[in-house]
Order: sequence, then C-alpha cells, then structure tokens
Amino acid sequence: MLKALRSFARRKSPWIMHVPCGGCNGCDIEVVAALTPKFDVERFGVLQKGTPRHADILIVTGVVTAQILDRLKRIYDLTPNPKHIVAFGSCAVDGDIFREGYGFAGPLDEVLPVDIYVPGCPPRPEALIDGLNKLLKRLK
Ligand code: SF4
Repeated sequence: MLKALRSFARRKSPWIMHVPCGGCNGCDIEVVAALTPKFDVERFGVLQKGTPRHADILIVTGVVTAQILDRLKRIYDLTPNPKHIVAFGSCAVDGDIFREGYGFAGPLDEVLPVDIYVPGCPPRPEALIDGLNKLLKRLK
C-alpha cells in the first residue's frame, strides 16, 4: 500500500535535477526554458531540486568528459532509488560534435543507465516535456 502510494506520488510529481556536463550550454538554456511559465513543465507536477538526494530524475546535458565522469557517477549514487536518467541533447546521447575530442569519456549510456533519449542540438523545451511524459507513462 505504501509502495503504491509512493509510486503514485512520484508519477504525479517527479522531482528533477539538472546535471550539466561538458557541453556548450545550449541544452542547459533549453532545460531552464522548460521551467519558465512559457513552457511550464510544472503543470505536470515536475519540480526542480538542487540536490540529487531529493531527485527522482536526473536530466543530463552536455558531453560526458573525463573531468566530470567521477562527479557524475557520484551524483547518480547519491540519488535515491528508484532513479531515472534523461539524456537531453545529442552531446549526452552520443557525444555529437565533441565525440572525437580528447576529453570525451563515452556516451552517457556507456557510463550510466539511460531511460529516455532526447536527441537534438539543442532539443526544444517541448522535447524535454515529451520525454518526461514518456518516462512517467512507462513508470505506471
Ligand atoms: S547538443 Fe548541441 S546545444 Fe546541446 S550541449 Fe551539445 S553542442 Fe550544445
């Protein structure tokens, strides 16, 4: 009963944490835009949190670099279960234009388990909202 209630609450009001890695910040701007009144991702109950300890979903943007790799894994470890990852933007999905760079540590899904891929350079805020909705439907 308590487990079902927790699951219901998570689906109705998932808490997200934005984790910017090594991109150009274009995707970060689109994530912020999704939180503004114009796109209003909060209408789906989505709330942004500043610590992984309070997050259900990590929105990862930018390319995974050798420099960020350990911190990214630590953020993931600090996120309570059940936890989910959205790879937002082509950099997070496969490295995109930074793929041949010396600091590239691999596509996000080779480092951590990714639940939803939102490709694009950068994807629009609507794409993030769509990705979150797909993830929440999958959690039912
Ligand atoms: S996907 Fe494009 S916009 Fe997003 S961080 Fe990479 S280069 Fe920048």
